[in-house]
Amino acid sequence: MSSLHQLTIEQASAGLAKKEFSSVELTQACLDQIASSDHRLRAFINVFPEHALAQAEKADLAFRRGEALSVLAGIPYAAKDNFCTEGFATTAGSKILEKYLPPFESTTTQRLKDAGAVLLGKTNLDEFAMGGSTENSAFYPTKNPRDETRVPGGSSGGSAAAVASGEVIYALGTDTGGSVRQPASFCGVVGLKPTYGRTSRYGVMAMASSLDTISHLTKTVADSALVLQSIAGRDPHDSTSSNLALDNYSEEIKKPVKGLKIGLPQEYFTAEGIDPQVKEVIFSALKKVEELTGTSAIPINLSAPDYALACYYLIMPSEVSSNLARYDGIKYGLSVSGSDLFDTYQKSRGQGLGAEVKRRIILGTYALSHGYYDAYYQKACAVRSLIKKDFEGAFKTVDLILSPVASTTAFKIGEKSEDPLQMYLADLFTIPMSLAGVPAISVPCGVSAGLPVGLQIIGQWFDEKTVLRLAHHFEQSRK
Ligand code: GLN
Repeated sequence: MSSLHQLTIEQASAGLAKKEFSSVELTQACLDQIASSDHRLRAFINVFPEHALAQAEKADLAFRRGEALSVLAGIPYAAKDNFCTEGFATTAGSKILEKYLPPFESTTTQRLKDAGAVLLGKTNLDEFAMGGSTENSAFYPTKNPRDETRVPGGSSGGSAAAVASGEVIYALGTDTGGSVRQPASFCGVVGLKPTYGRTSRYGVMAMASSLDTISHLTKTVADSALVLQSIAGRDPHDSTSSNLALDNYSEEIKKPVKGLKIGLPQEYFTAEGIDPQVKEVIFSALKKVEELTGTSAIPINLSAPDYALACYYLIMPSEVSSNLARYDGIKYGLSVSGSDLFDTYQKSRGQGLGAEVKRRIILGTYALSHGYYDAYYQKACAVRSLIKKDFEGAFKTVDLILSPVASTTAFKIGEKSEDPLQMYLADLFTIPMSLAGVPAISVPCGVSAGLPVGLQIIGQWFDEKTVLRLAHHFEQSRK
């Protein structure tokens, strides 16, 4: 058997049930791995060894008593540091919240707590989840475990690096425009962004509320199904969470994929800047998928992804500018007192927030301002409806859509950090699904020059089960 920290959720859960090892041993194995690799990778902002071991002991006690436990019981995980965890520092990767201790728990971490999961620590991210490389963290960048000269992607780069390096068994992230799928692709792990409304946003620091989607990173697709089952579902604290019943994801993924109709958006393969080697890896993955389904991929048309990019970079900053107004130096977080109230606002925000966050607040404020609102924000909202319609149209003829997750593999640390536009382009293929709200997964599909490439499988609203099913069969076929 592989070392304990390398286990998947399925393997760990089976081992715990058979008493082959204890949750304390499993948790300690992850803590040891963190001790040996995290001084280099810096995937974590905070680790809670005592708390984690105490939770593990509690799970072990429940196992010994023979209590009926969730599959996630006793298994260590990490949460991106924008999930509020009661009494445990939650920084959102920002100086303005460096000392913030939330008085309440996010719904998702609460659900995992109720399942007996062991929270090991909180992972690094681009400040307030704004970025695609984790270099925008106010504390330090995270490195890619596959090549430490490269970024792990972002903004959930800490979570992706922690899972890929075996520092944790799985991790939570958030995906607003690609922040779970892109780092999953760069680090070679599985990242699922469920349908907007499938998971609850309560207690997660808002970036762009109409796009923010609670998501997760795992080592396998079967594990992704298990985590989704535990965290998804209606939450009275989030009015946008859906009442729709959940499927039994772990059962659904085993069903055959023969006959599934796969769409291939032509515009995603002719886009500028896509690395020819990445394209080749995606095409050979596509061949495999065609073998599995026994059908030929159907060429479809979606609008060019650069329209989505432009639309996103108006809607997202607009929402950012209003969501981040709460960090004013008065209510909570860093407070730098000035000569009057306005000066206090300016000093606190000026010192507490980083350059990228400020850039977006300024862009968003501009797009929402009188005289520009119609030309920018409202126009972007109209384009967003068209993008949604595109997907509705496509799903009349196909069950799933395939595309690359990113145009390139993980780039070098520092390569794009001085050029925001280049950084924004890294999300070209993930943003349209965020605007439409459809579910999408990144599943490892090969390597290019030694670096992992992710295949994106996109499904209809609330059809996570079919997305996971094809991803699972594809993953199995690569073994
Ligand atoms: N990289 C994108 C951005 O910078 C997406 C971020 C996210 O999904 N949180 O906005």
